[in-house]
Amino acid sequence: MKIRAQIAMVMNLDKCIGCHTCSVTCKNVWTNREGVEYAWFNNVETKPGIGYPKDWENQDKWKGGWTRKKNGKIQPRIGSKWRVLANIFANPDLPEIDDYYEPFTFDYEHLQKAPELEAFPTARPRSLISGERMEKIEWGPNWEEILGGEFAKRSKDKNFEGIEKEIYGQFENTFMMYLPRLCEHCLNPTCVAACPSGAIYKRDEDGIVLIDQDKCRGWRMCVSACPYKKIYFNWSSGKSEKCIFCYPRLEAGQPTVCSETCVGRIRYLGVVLYDADGIEKAAATENEQDLYEEQLKLFLDPNDPKVIEEARRQGIPENWLEAAKRSPVWKMAMEWKIAFPLHPEYRTMPMVWYVPPLSPIQSAAEAGKIGVDGDMPDVRSLRIPVKYLANLLTAGKEEPIVTGLERMLAMRAYMRVKTIDGVIDETIA
Ligand code: SF4
Ligand code: SF4
Repeated sequence: MKIRAQIAMVMNLDKCIGCHTCSVTCKNVWTNREGVEYAWFNNVETKPGIGYPKDWENQDKWKGGWTRKKNGKIQPRIGSKWRVLANIFANPDLPEIDDYYEPFTFDYEHLQKAPELEAFPTARPRSLISGERMEKIEWGPNWEEILGGEFAKRSKDKNFEGIEKEIYGQFENTFMMYLPRLCEHCLNPTCVAACPSGAIYKRDEDGIVLIDQDKCRGWRMCVSACPYKKIYFNWSSGKSEKCIFCYPRLEAGQPTVCSETCVGRIRYLGVVLYDADGIEKAAATENEQDLYEEQLKLFLDPNDPKVIEEARRQGIPENWLEAAKRSPVWKMAMEWKIAFPLHPEYRTMPMVWYVPPLSPIQSAAEAGKIGVDGDMPDVRSLRIPVKYLANLLTAGKEEPIVTGLERMLAMRAYMRVKTIDGVIDETIA
């Protein structure tokens, strides 16, 4: 068995307040340059919503991720390498600037230079690309937050599949959550498989996926192939770019910028050990709904002396083994099973996992509509439909989500009993 170590992330969605500090600090550090004005290596989406770029979850449209062939093998949805090469000059599956949003600034000069008017002058938006005044902005990455329930009713959000969304278009049933997103640094990245120049690679030592800027020829097959749409074409350099998981900071012992500056403290970084030989077989699992569990099986217990001994023998450094033992990612994703991968059905084996939000469900629990006894709740009785979270995180399988939510409810109840007015009850503690 080939053992590899990977730096991974878990985000607790209950704690995200949608402040966008992570996105802004990441932008200031990595994409505050000509050519990538529109690019957000980290962005925070409003859900329900169609996200950034628009409709990125619609793989029928973009052809991202892997598809399973009849012979049980997988290949990138955009096609075999030959088809990829044939498509190079007419790649139909690329988002355009309107799918991201047209970056704009405000016409602040107008505030000082406007002629005398009855009304106070306003700083109108001006396109950062053309410099033209933008009379009307019709969409942005967090637009749905303003439209609320009305959006849910008409939404093209793929996660509503199998849900009567009319119910969630009614005022009293509306729900909203935030979904921060970055490159997943997948175990089985389609961006790597689809690049005709061999410019994208996954680092052996920590699993970070990078684009060699000297080798990149700007074919943009990676943009199509990445199902999370987390590769951006730099129109100025003619190369593709992506989140680098702040590797220069990690190498200096610092967390990623998004983790360090996160206001809600929602981000947990950690090392996991996995069986690299098992990836292809796991990614080719027939039933999409089993992919989450198949990915779980790849992870190796860092507290098992045999695993540690073998990892040591294969050259994994001692400090990484220590980090794997203390890893919050291992605990939340593998041990407690309260964190889940984003869209495992894309078969890329993503490594940024999410604890689903509990807060709006807490009110349902208090109303006696969800228990901690293992019963499946009535999906309609919950504020955020369990099916919606399952479509987002477990390819539609509801049981693991329900178990995760119930575990968190139990923990919350326990912590409340343990702590009275902020004072720990020693008898229980
Ligand atoms: Fe590649 Fe990142 Fe997309 Fe995965 S999420 S396919 S590693 S760009
Ligand atoms: Fe959410 Fe943290 Fe980003 Fe704020 S900084 S939007 S809390 S992930």
